[in-house]
Amino acid sequence: MDSITFKTIQDSIKNLSYVQLKRLKHQADEQLAKDEVGQAVAEREETISACPHCQSESYLRWGVTNQGKQRYRCKDCRKTFSSLTGTALYRMRKPEKWMEYTNCLWLSNSLRNIANKLNINLKTAFEWRHRLLKSPCNHKATELLGIIEADEAFLPQSFKGSRQMPREPRKRGGGNTPKVPILLALDRGGSISHHVLERNTTDELGAALKPLLSPDSVLCTDGNLSYKTIVKELNINIDHKRLVALDNKRVIEGIYHIQTLNNFMMRWKSWMVRFKGVGTAYLEHYIAWFRFMEQKKATKTCCWIQEAFYKV
Ligand SMILES: [Zn+2]
Repeated sequence: MDSITFKTIQDSIKNLSYVQLKRLKHQADEQLAKDEVGQAVAEREETISACPHCQSESYLRWGVTNQGKQRYRCKDCRKTFSSLTGTALYRMRKPEKWMEYTNCLWLSNSLRNIANKLNINLKTAFEWRHRLLKSPCNHKATELLGIIEADEAFLPQSFKGSRQMPREPRKRGGGNTPKVPILLALDRGGSISHHVLERNTTDELGAALKPLLSPDSVLCTDGNLSYKTIVKELNINIDHKRLVALDNKRVIEGIYHIQTLNNFMMRWKSWMVRFKGVGTAYLEHYIAWFRFMEQKKATKTCCWIQEAFYKV
């Protein structure tokens, strides 16, 4: 609501009777309790401690934004900001629909379905999806510990959602669609990392995997020789357990295997079927989406909104 309309309402409150005021207060309390997004944003405001532009700690309250959020002004760089500046939610409209939108993410609804349900247009449904997926995508694991499982997944390359096709569209059924390699790695503590690669080479696999490995961990992979080279190139101590298909071994010493990861991949791939092909440019977001839901299913409430408070 704009500030002029709000001021009019505030002024008219003065004319209400005691009973009417009580009724209004009751209604407002009910509304406040229901507004999970509003609550989350208000809590977020409590945690502001510095200007997001220059990190200065001296700033003033500076009116309210068009959406009714507290605005601040930095005394040093003189820029204004709100609690959402720099986050995925910055300047995102219709906050009254955010919560319902995140419910649609939990339900993995199609864009068309969401657009109908929330009465927003398809473009908005698409933009919000990727705004909300940005932060989970940034928060994949950067370090894996203990027993680590790594493997590649491959999905057909797709230009869905891209503005321009870089080449002539392929005729249906003709030729092989190139596959996009994805490195997935997890540890048994529940941390998962994923990297969409351009090419399935030892160099690219190594560049994605090496930073994740911590000293004295055990890396489990299939027989792919690339992993052997990668481990050899490391200057930290890693025990490498290779599950070589020819040996027909699925588990070594009772605990070393890549089945936790392969099961995760299977669940992710079957979840992906509903989207009928995902543009390669957005693939990383879709892994993050699924991973985030698996990791957060116990603490569902408002976590998409809280996650979106991180700087992106
Ligand atoms: Zn500043």
